[in-house]
Amino acid sequence: MQETFWLISKITPLAVFDILLVTLIIYGLLMLIRGTQADQVVRGVLMVLITSAVVGSFLRLTIFNWLLQSTIPALLIAIPVIFQPELRRALEQLGRTGNIINYPLHLHITTSVEKLADELARACAMLAERRYGGLIVVERTTGLEDFIQTGTRIDGTVTAELLLQIFYKGSPLHDGAVIIRGDRIVAARCLLPLTEDSELDPELGTRHRAALGVTESTDAICVVASEETGAISLANHGHLVRHLNDQKLRLLLTALLQTPSGLPSMGGNGRASGGNGSASSPPGAASSGEAADGAGREGAATGAPQRDALPQRDDAATRPPAAAAWWRNGSLWGGIGSLGRRFGWRPSR
Ligand code: ATP
Ligand code: MG
Repeated sequence: MQETFWLISKITPLAVFDILLVTLIIYGLLMLIRGTQADQVVRGVLMVLITSAVVGSFLRLTIFNWLLQSTIPALLIAIPVIFQPELRRALEQLGRTGNIINYPLHLHITTSVEKLADELARACAMLAERRYGGLIVVERTTGLEDFIQTGTRIDGTVTAELLLQIFYKGSPLHDGAVIIRGDRIVAARCLLPLTEDSELDPELGTRHRAALGVTESTDAICVVASEETGAISLANHGHLVRHLNDQKLRLLLTALLQTPSGLPSMGGNGRASGGNGSASSPPGAASSGEAADGAGREGAATGAPQRDALPQRDDAATRPPAAAAWWRNGSLWGGIGSLGRRFGWRPSR
């Protein structure tokens, strides 16, 4: 009884804060690794630790205990190596919070977001019509220089015609991704990281995997035109919206790029993108059900929720723009949202 009182007397507001902070960090780490290969590794490590504790406390298996005890330091060294992609992603997401500070320092480019969205949508329509494969990444706050260096530098103004020329099957630049910064095509033939998501629709090949991969590790937006099906898709924060038509793609792109941190230096036109708080706020953008127009597959005919439709809970197009801006882009909330998705919050696969 006395011990209980002593314990209670030790609980200060600072101690509570301390415990909450550690809980939050452990929770965040668990969310970060959930659904990844690291998930299995953590289970393995936990099994070693629990077995070691049980053997150490209840059984007197000296040599077995020694073996388990010597495994633990090795695991401590192995963990940063095994978790390298997750750690890198977490630090990048944390680093994006710095964009709040950096924002005024960004170079000012007066390109209209709508013009860019229009050119991209037109390009995708032409690519889809001709069944050319296309992979276009639009840089936002995370620098894509690492990926640009894997390709061929171009530095041309973004036009649908130039994009069509690049992805024309006979073009030496048609393989890989085009990267856009502001109103410039910075490079073509770039190599992107592939997503490691094992639950992805097996229909989706490496082009779509690359689109998801780059949007998982950065805040870029990626547009894909499928060579096989002629379908147009958009990837953002590791989610893929499939079977878009050019009009819907243009509206979605405009909504995503229109926020200050959406494309930092693009000087959006300030047009309110549907501020009515409805479920699908971008100006005239498709509702989440409509977005999978022509999907002709999951749920399209039955009216059931579209697996490929706009993500219901975390996609920009399903939130009022002001909130969406902070959610989507390089902010702490973006990081937390991303962590949330790691913890099973994956509506759009
Ligand atoms: P599609 O629907 O167009 O067939 P897909 O998702 O089925 O696309 P693949 O058929 O495997 O994918 O597409 C292969 C092409 O995707 C490659 O020729 C290349 O242009 C592009 N690609 C594949 N991997 C990458 C990568 N890591 N980075 C950039 N581009 C890539
Ligand atoms: Mg294919």
